[in-house]
Amino acid sequence: MTSTPSTLPDGPQDTALPGVRPAVRAVPAYPFTPADVPIKLDQNENPYDFPAELKAEATRRMMERAWNRYPDLHADTLRARVAAYEGWDAGGVVLTPGSNVLIKILTELAGINQTVLTVRPTFSVYTLEASLLGASLVQVPLNEDFSLPVEGLKAALAANPPGVLYITQPHAPTGFVDGVDAVRELVEAARGWVVVIDEAYHEYSDTDYRALVRAHPNALSLRTFSKAWGLAGIRAGYALTSPELAENLQKLVSAFTMNTLTQCALEVALEQPAYVRQRVQEGVRERQRVLDALQAHPTCQALPSQGNFFLLRTPDPQVAYETLLSHGIVIRRQDNLPGLQGCLRIAIGTPAENDALIQAVQALH
Ligand SMILES: *Cc1c(COP(=O)(O)O)cnc(C)c1O
Repeated sequence: MTSTPSTLPDGPQDTALPGVRPAVRAVPAYPFTPADVPIKLDQNENPYDFPAELKAEATRRMMERAWNRYPDLHADTLRARVAAYEGWDAGGVVLTPGSNVLIKILTELAGINQTVLTVRPTFSVYTLEASLLGASLVQVPLNEDFSLPVEGLKAALAANPPGVLYITQPHAPTGFVDGVDAVRELVEAARGWVVVIDEAYHEYSDTDYRALVRAHPNALSLRTFSKAWGLAGIRAGYALTSPELAENLQKLVSAFTMNTLTQCALEVALEQPAYVRQRVQEGVRERQRVLDALQAHPTCQALPSQGNFFLLRTPDPQVAYETLLSHGIVIRRQDNLPGLQGCLRIAIGTPAENDALIQAVQALH
């Protein structure tokens, strides 16, 4: 039997692994290299660890639980706690190990063989999952001031078969917050679509889309324990939505995916959430202090933000990146993204870290 070399319709050739779907092979691996430096401002994490006394209580509960037993199938106890915390119907809460997992599942739910609509630039996970899962990806450029291109998105909603629309408030990676009216107009125009309002940073902007989501059964608020809660290492995020949409999403969540140890930590956090507000207040205060301190910079422009991070527009992002690194500070380059020429994304750290950042940026020219 002779075999002829097959030609893939698209994507690179890879004779070693012909079983891997071309769409997966075509996507480069997630481009993140951890830097071993003292001041980590590259992932928008909380600069403070989970409070020590809560960590001790979570550990105590972990010791009590049986690790040989499967956890709750759908983390029902935790869902009820999240629902009580958010003032939501527990039937409309879906928990996953990080909201990134929910983005994958939402793309499976509404994107595969359908449309994933978002803006450009946008959070990279939306476009990554659309590419991996073979959804038709449509991106509308943000307005120049980073506001939502409402008319462009409405035109795209009308022109494409339904799927999922991702809106981020505050936006990532710009930190821009739109008016509620703009977001409402989009949600109302997106009949037949699943509309995701990613609120990963809402604690820092004092915005809250629960009322809008409650009024639209096809809308969903995406929230995370990774930022304001300081629990990125625990991996947990959730959706607040209608029971109908939650029920369908839940079908795509792997069974037993919220592990026993994560559940213990989250139960403790939800019982004593006061630390979150205190840290957010400091973060917001520090954001203002850093932005003010950088206002008079001769060549760099610190752009306003409502998140726990901001963009710094520099004349030479490569030099800026290396200069900050030489000061022991790692940040994230975003200058390859459309509309973000020269931009670095910098998380707000502790006051001491922010002092070091301000000093290091002053050294740029
Ligand atoms: C950080 C972030 C998340 C959170 O992801 P997790 O998987 O919950 O850690 C979600 N959306 C955006 C836009 C983010 O920046």
